[in-house]
Amino acid sequence: MKRFGTVFLVGAGPGDPKLLTVRAHELISRAEVLAHDELVPEAILSIAPRRAERIRVGRRAKTRRELGCRARGVRHHEARIHPRVIERARAGRDVVRLKGGDPMIFGRGGEEIAELRAAGIPFEVIPGITAALGAAASLAFPLTHRDVAHSVTLRTGHRASSEPAKETLVFYMGLSELEPIAASLVAEGHARTTPALVVASATRPEQKHVLGTLAEIAARTREADLESPALFFVGEAVASAAASPARILRLVKFA
Ligand code: SAH
Repeated sequence: MKRFGTVFLVGAGPGDPKLLTVRAHELISRAEVLAHDELVPEAILSIAPRRAERIRVGRRAKTRRELGCRARGVRHHEARIHPRVIERARAGRDVVRLKGGDPMIFGRGGEEIAELRAAGIPFEVIPGITAALGAAASLAFPLTHRDVAHSVTLRTGHRASSEPAKETLVFYMGLSELEPIAASLVAEGHARTTPALVVASATRPEQKHVLGTLAEIAARTREADLESPALFFVGEAVASAAASPARILRLVKFA
């Protein structure tokens, strides 16, 4: 059976090449095929070998006509992974799919992963520094602060007011408080069946996670004996974590 290439969904960070991860730099510098958004600057693209095939994956400034199409619901079309990316992977070539910032923050990582899974193409996700973190660091202001900011919200500027927010909540330092946190979310109106996920020692060799619903997550986490440091995620988007633990661990193995 012919071996498919791997598609690496790589976060390129906010723009400064020095803010690439070591893994991203390694993958770009030996890329054969580089599929990138327009957000990724030339200073990063030029790390790739000259002979690398470049595929520009559109999010161009839209013409009025395109905007019109989008309004009629063609938007979904844009989310499709570039056909050439699938083609090259099927032909056995690895593809570096470079995205500005982090692929999982407004990067359509979810849609591309669903498509890669459906096509049976192996993939790996390499996180990048999302724009908000880059901006906060460069201007030296905190996104959270013990006195003045107990949470930070990353929100899309599209469809700002038309729908109620659908969100992923992430609690840091919450492992010992899972029970009361989950209870207060239910009291605030979150369904008891909302997907909930605890990830301990993320990206480290000893990483463990527990996926469940808001109603059962505290008990399940106790049973699994997870230890600090851990993050607690709540929201529909975390449900797709179930299918990918092996790949999360691969990131560590190759690092
Ligand atoms: N996946 C990206 C976000 C893609 S959405 C990330 O994690 O950062 C594109 C939006 O991100 C832009 O419209 C802008 O609002 C923001 N953005 C991306 N790079 C930026 C930069 N270097 N400076 C300021 N904003 C940036």
